[in-house]
Amino acid sequence: MNRARILTFNAALPVLDYRVPEGTNVVPGSVVVAPLGPREILGIVWEEDRLPAQSVPDAKLRPFREVLPVPPLRPELRRLIEWTADYYCAPMNSVARMVLSSGGAMRGPSTTTEYRLSGGMPERMTPKREAAIAALEGEQATIRELAELAGVSDGVLRGLVNQGVLEPVVVDIDRPYPRAHADHAEPILSAGQKPVADELVTAVEAEEFAPILLDGVTGSGKTETYFEPVAAALRKDRQVLVLLPEIALTENFLRRFEDRFGAAPIVWHSSLKSTERRRAWRAISTGEAQVVVGARSALFLPYANLGLIVVDEAHEVSFKQDDGVRYNARDVAVMRGRFEKIPVVLASATPALESLQMAESGIYRKLDLPSRYGGAELPTIKLINLTEEKPDRGRWLAPSLARELFVRLEKGEQSLLFLNRRGYAPLTLCRNCGHRFQCANCSAWLVEHRFSRKLACHHCGHEEPPPPACPECGEVDCLVPCGPGVERIADEVAEILPGARVAVVTSDTLNSPEKAAEFVAQAEAKAIDVIVGTQLVTKGFHFPELTLVGVVDADLGLEGGDLRAAERTYQQVAQVAGRAGRGAKPGEVHIQTRHPDAPVIEALAAGDRDAFYEAETEARRHAGAPPFGRWAAIIVSSEDEAEARDAARVIGGTQPRLDDIMILGPAPAPMALLRGRFRYRLLINARRSARVQDAIRQWLDPLDFPRGVRIAIDIDPYSF
Ligand code: ADP
Ligand code: ZN
Repeated sequence: MNRARILTFNAALPVLDYRVPEGTNVVPGSVVVAPLGPREILGIVWEEDRLPAQSVPDAKLRPFREVLPVPPLRPELRRLIEWTADYYCAPMNSVARMVLSSGGAMRGPSTTTEYRLSGGMPERMTPKREAAIAALEGEQATIRELAELAGVSDGVLRGLVNQGVLEPVVVDIDRPYPRAHADHAEPILSAGQKPVADELVTAVEAEEFAPILLDGVTGSGKTETYFEPVAAALRKDRQVLVLLPEIALTENFLRRFEDRFGAAPIVWHSSLKSTERRRAWRAISTGEAQVVVGARSALFLPYANLGLIVVDEAHEVSFKQDDGVRYNARDVAVMRGRFEKIPVVLASATPALESLQMAESGIYRKLDLPSRYGGAELPTIKLINLTEEKPDRGRWLAPSLARELFVRLEKGEQSLLFLNRRGYAPLTLCRNCGHRFQCANCSAWLVEHRFSRKLACHHCGHEEPPPPACPECGEVDCLVPCGPGVERIADEVAEILPGARVAVVTSDTLNSPEKAAEFVAQAEAKAIDVIVGTQLVTKGFHFPELTLVGVVDADLGLEGGDLRAAERTYQQVAQVAGRAGRGAKPGEVHIQTRHPDAPVIEALAAGDRDAFYEAETEARRHAGAPPFGRWAAIIVSSEDEAEARDAARVIGGTQPRLDDIMILGPAPAPMALLRGRFRYRLLINARRSARVQDAIRQWLDPLDFPRGVRIAIDIDPYSF
């Protein structure tokens, strides 16, 4: 080949042809560096006939500069990139970027220099230096990363390097990972687990595409069971990917993994340090990495010989990415399995209706773990009807729930209160004039966080200190909280149970693996009596002494623009209920609701999962919602309101008339202002068989918009 067609990482020029320099060998999948104008770009050599032809004649082609010394992307992965781009209407190079997510990761030498405190002190201390030294205690990373960590400029740290306060450490990027062993500590599986594990092992040995729904109640030991096919893959020297929804909660998983296989897996997530990132990427691409545990972004890594994918808690919303390439990692995982010809296991106690439907129609195999491991019973469930049993004024917990908490405390057992709202109160008012504190960048209220003393927007991350006076009327000390958040519930627990040790568990408090590990250790050591938490506590935790779960507001999830509100409510409450009674003592769940006769609440009360799914199936069928029909959204945004509205109108005015596709809107999106951008939305509802993506491309491709307008396409959206 002396002409190479390259998928570039340049948004405006995604496909370019280059001449292959003399003496250079490339194959499709090779990663190359090529000149573009005065700059250089990264690109991937592609099969010529799979990308649009270029018109530059041979004689005019510029040579690319070099081939990077990494294994070429395998055809299975290239097909996955193409499929993902096509299905989600995303640029192919945006998808490819996720594969090479570590940017220059593959480039350069196999060592890197990191820095750490030497223990020495600078000749001249400045406030910045002092702050940096305090912040970097125990840290080791590159200058850039340390600067970010300490919140100072690179220059401040270079000064410290020159003075010998920070010392260099040479790190070998290719140092090997500890080896996992399939036979390290084989478990004794229960009579229910054994046949399921055997079937999963057989699937790995068959080396064929096999989508499998592992449907097991909470506490049934899904993890122990799917560790067996992981072992089978290790025996065959094939790599394994385990996707987890929340990387903050891997602690318990990692410990169990290490107990079983004698070594920790490689953890992949977006906040890995650059050295660890490069190390992992390289080991994954050479096949050296055995098992990778990661958040959704781990799905697009260039595994050399993948043998199994497990998606744990496969129903979780966090597998859906809502910016950039808007993909659903659960669904792309199945596609990756198909291209790689390997089994994909979707594990859940509360599968998405889409997954159950796939099993029902015979496309997925379904394996069941219907009872808890070790004979533990599922908890009993009681409803608290808040329209009859009202909490005291200024309180949020009904008297009977407060009593239950008291009883558990007396017995030395643990309780968990679930409320999916971070902060102290969801809305803050001025006592004098009723002014509502709103985010300047979003159509959202600012949420008071009392522990960290700030008002925060949960959509854009904007934070400000609580104002000393109302900006509207000037009243001082005027803030009134409206409604409960977890911090307020924690205060209430402290009032009704003086002396109880209360832990608030949210993404604010458990924002690092260390903090998560600390919390788990404390809870296990029974140093916590009551846990108050958001959805973060609904999954993964296994505290044998936890016998009471209180759902503070089961109706919360039923509000808002969530297409799957009922399903989400069912999943969250069932998952959090699943934390109760996992040990020897039976568990109880008390659910506070104002709608005890809503179908989803009734099904939860009766512990009747089938009833819920049946009702939900009917509702979805009726609405033409997934899995019976499909949804897609087009979101038009701009910093200029009129510009966004006009662009949305242009799109609305050119909409195609198609039999099997219905288009609603444009209308202001439910978050009409988000991160300083005004948003309009068109909603598409189509028959399952309709080629929605083709219709959208034909519709939007010919249109031109001002530079400030952004169009986002969301296929199979979760919420908007
Ligand atoms: P799930 O993920 O299905 O909710 P887990 O995998 O967390 O359930 O298992 C629940 C508990 O039972 C865990 O503490 C786990 O270690 C234990 N367990 C499950 N299966 C076995 C087994 N075969 N041998 C020993 N312990 C097991
Ligand atoms: Zn905001």
